[in-house]
This record gives sequence, C-alpha cells and structure tokens, in this order.
Amino acid sequence: MFLPPESDRSVSAKQARPRPDPHRVRERMIRELREQGITDENVLRAMGLIHRHLFVDEALAARAYDLTSLPLGLGQTISNPLTVARMTELLQLQAGMRVLEIGTGSGYQAAVLAEMGCFVYTVERLPLLHEKAKKILRELGYARIRMMLGDGTMGYRVAAPYARIIVTAGGPSVPEPLLKQLDEKGIMLIPVGEAHSQRLLRITRRGSSFVREDFGPASFVDLVGNHGW
Ligand code: SAH
Repeated sequence: MFLPPESDRSVSAKQARPRPDPHRVRERMIRELREQGITDENVLRAMGLIHRHLFVDEALAARAYDLTSLPLGLGQTISNPLTVARMTELLQLQAGMRVLEIGTGSGYQAAVLAEMGCFVYTVERLPLLHEKAKKILRELGYARIRMMLGDGTMGYRVAAPYARIIVTAGGPSVPEPLLKQLDEKGIMLIPVGEAHSQRLLRITRRGSSFVREDFGPASFVDLVGNHGW
C-alpha cells in the first residue's frame, strides 16, 4: 500500500476527515425520534426528506439534526425536531388538508406540513424571519406554502376555514379568531399558559362546541399580538 511521507500524511488525514453526511445525520435524527416514541411513518418520512440544516444559520448547521431547539435570531427559535414531530403527529393530518400555521419562524414546520401533502398558510410577525423563510421555501420549491406577514393571532381570514391550525408560539389564551377560522371537526394545536411555560392543548371543533385535550408541558417563545401577549 502506498503511504505518503509522514509530513504529508497528517495533511491528507485532515483533508480526508469526513464532513457530516447530511443523509446519515437525517437518518440518525429519525432513529432518535423513533426512540423517543414517534411512530407516525408519514411524519418520519417527511422529516427524513427535509434538509433541516438549510433552515438555520450556517454556524449552527452541524447541530441542525440534534434533538434540540436552536436560535433563529431576534430572540426566536426553531423548535426541537421532537416537538415538531409530536405536534405534527397530534394534528392527524391527511393529504390535501388546508393548514394554518401561526409563527413561520425558519419555515421548517411549514415544510414538514407541505411534505405531508397539505396546503399550508403560514403567518409570521417579524419581517426579517418572514423574508428569510420565504427565500428558502421558494428555493426548495414549496409551491403549496403561502407565507403572510402579520399578526397571526388574528388568523388569516382570506383562506378560512382550516382543517387544522398549529400555533408554534405560546400565548395567555386561545385567540378567538383562530377558533372561528377552524373548520367543523377541525383540530387546533396551541401552547397556552405563562411566558415560556405552557401546556400544549389540542382543541377539536364539534359544531359549535370545542373539546380540549391537554398534552402536557411545553416551552415556546411568546405569541405576541392582539390576542397574545
Ligand atoms: N414554526 C417555527 C418556529 C416558530 S418560533 C419553525 O419551524 O421554525 C415562533 C415564531 O412565532 C417566531 O418566529 C415569532 O416571531 C412568531 N410569532 C410570535 N407571535 C406571532 C404572531 N402574533 N403572529 C405571527 N407570528 C408570531
């Protein structure tokens, strides 16, 4: 076997150090999600397809597939993949559904919803994050995602009603406009409680009444707006 001289060997070893293979790290993330109890194969498939490192700053790319939330700037965060997976599972999505997301953030959750075959309407209040998410989602070719800038606690009446609503920021109560924009038999997921410490609620509409289920503690950034903080 040919070996380069000692001095060259360290250089070539350095050059040969493998960069994390995006396919392998995504597989590892999916394995870890399974270990944490995620069983919905459609959710796992969707998350296995998306290049999550493209949704965070380059400096954080190496940690993009860890089960942790990461900063997006402006005090906001991209949710932990486990939280994204749990919430997506709890939404009981079917392809073709119209889904409203409040809190576009990085755009990652919207991409997951689109990969599940849904038509996604997502609202973000911070212009910088809205623009960034728009850029990456356009680049990746997500034609089924509509992105709006504004106060998501008001919902988005233009395209209502929605089969599903997912709120990815925590407020003091369930915004009334969102309840109104939920379809018959529609399902909404929303963290409600104190700042940074909420309960994840699933609200199912049955005609004019709403059934609430509590899925335990959650920690999201603040839902800021007319019907938020
Ligand atoms: N779903 C995102 C993570 C969201 S972080 C992702 O996949 O990356 C929560 C986001 O909600 C932040 O970007 C914050 O700016 C936004 N937000 C807070 N209050 C809002 C409101 N009233 N309307 C729309 N977006 C809001």
